Amino acid sequence: MDIQTAQEIWEAALGELQIQVSKPNYRTWFEKTVGISYQDNQFIVGVPSTFVTEYLDKNQRSLIEKALIGFTSTDVRVSFQVNGRHYDKQNTGDPPQTITAISSYAKFNLRYSFDTFVEGTSNRFARTAALAVVQNPGRGYNPLFIYGDVGLGKTHLLYAIGQAALANHVLVTCASAEQFTSDFVKAIREKNTEEFRNRYQSAGILLIDDIPFISGKTQTEESFFHIFNDLHNNNCQIVVTSNRPPKALTLMDERLRSRFEGGLVVDIQPPDFETRLAILKAKVANNEVKIDPTVLDLIAARIQGNIRELEGALNRVVAYAKLLKIVPNVELASRALQDIATKAPSTSATPSAIIAVVADNFQLSPAELKGPKRDKETTLARRVAMYLIRQETNCSLAQIGQELGGRDATAVSNACKKVASDILTSSYLKRKTTDILQKIHPG
Ligand code: ADP
Ligand code: MG
Repeated sequence: MDIQTAQEIWEAALGELQIQVSKPNYRTWFEKTVGISYQDNQFIVGVPSTFVTEYLDKNQRSLIEKALIGFTSTDVRVSFQVNGRHYDKQNTGDPPQTITAISSYAKFNLRYSFDTFVEGTSNRFARTAALAVVQNPGRGYNPLFIYGDVGLGKTHLLYAIGQAALANHVLVTCASAEQFTSDFVKAIREKNTEEFRNRYQSAGILLIDDIPFISGKTQTEESFFHIFNDLHNNNCQIVVTSNRPPKALTLMDERLRSRFEGGLVVDIQPPDFETRLAILKAKVANNEVKIDPTVLDLIAARIQGNIRELEGALNRVVAYAKLLKIVPNVELASRALQDIATKAPSTSATPSAIIAVVADNFQLSPAELKGPKRDKETTLARRVAMYLIRQETNCSLAQIGQELGGRDATAVSNACKKVASDILTSSYLKRKTTDILQKIHPG
């Protein structure tokens, strides 16, 4: 039974009930209810408070079951759930170990799952904590606070928790802090803060993305604080993401900040070269794009820090190749990424650093590259250095000539053109430039 169906059945049943009970009655007892799940002849209705639960259970159970029969099996049994916690009069004294409900408030990008999340040293701790939360919500690490720079996979991990928890039949409520804020503002305006609180407080797991958004919004923070405490006291799991650690959230309410610090705080670091490469490989495998591994090497070497940019770079290379109707190669990738690459944080990509790395790779000295030697190997190394300085810095042809022992701009230009074309046919040269690039932009 899927999520929508339970809600759809309930809406149909509500249509029946609306005819059978008086208008004021309907408004008081039924209006804020939701269809949560329907499994093994048991239909769970989400209600806003214990009070409503008791009333419905005592006075309306058979009416509700009759209304449901038309849309379910004839021996359907209804039970109620308040605030994500199971309430079933016939089952009291034996509280269920798991929360068997599915929220209709959670909508996830299905791509953001644990399966598609590539593990590396930079995110291992955060991923492990996220998995632990799914396995044992509310018991171990509560709250879980995940922080890291933009584009490093915080939202991906948060949604992965949500999807896995839903699969375990835990009631999940997930929202960005911005969504939370606008829901709150709307609730105030429309004077239904109770419904607002019920929605968030009914979570078995509450996931809030980009929590710093509520910093300094006093009323929203206050409201979140109460919801947080209520959930926490009831051992319901809370997971939030942030671009900074709790102690750096200087505008955030002090009480909230210390609550966050009281949980498990994990960070996601920028991925190293291997992880970047693994992510690219996974993306290519998923999208069934044919692409040379050296091209992936080059992208992983060039684009550092941000996984969203990494994906963007890959898409860009693929788009270029499609446009030119060729299989992506290093030269094309290099061109496609030209303007992205100059923006990359590459403090080490100075002409002399590049000369040093190239010389080292060819087992020569920088002085030899700058000197008069014209043997095959030295000439090739010198050309590669010129080509890479051209690619990696904003130096003019004349400046590059200067850097390499006072050669003229035409010679530099010819060298760059030669390398650019040789790279297309020589896998040796391709491999060498990729290796050098990796050294220039270490993971
Ligand atoms: P954040 O929320 O930290 O800004 P996102 O979760 O939106 O970052 O991640 C940006 C993009 O990078 C998404 O498309 C996401 O799927 C991808 N991504 C991030 N981390 C990983 C990872 N470890 N494995 C695979 N894809 C990842
Ligand atoms: Mg995000």
